[in-house]
Amino acid sequence: MVNGVEIPKGAIPADISKQIPAGYSNRYYYKDREFTCVECGTVEVWTAKAQQWYFEVIKAHPASEATHCSECRKKRNKAKEEQRRHMD
Ligand SMILES: [Zn+2]
Repeated sequence: MVNGVEIPKGAIPADISKQIPAGYSNRYYYKDREFTCVECGTVEVWTAKAQQWYFEVIKAHPASEATHCSECRKKRNKAKEEQRRHMD
């Protein structure tokens, strides 16, 4: 139990103090989650570890969800990089 919330088996308890305060959106634990990429439809797993990093290290808003698979993220980053190069 953390803050009165039961942590499911296999989940990582969250450190709420490291998250952005977001009321009901704050995450009390992280668990591997399947999501579908909005761009290509690939089903990928957003791991509990990756979520912990995303919300506690990067400080993403706790209501954020994974939307793009790793391949599409790579492509998007590359496109951004190229855009930057053109602007220089
Ligand atoms: Zn994708």
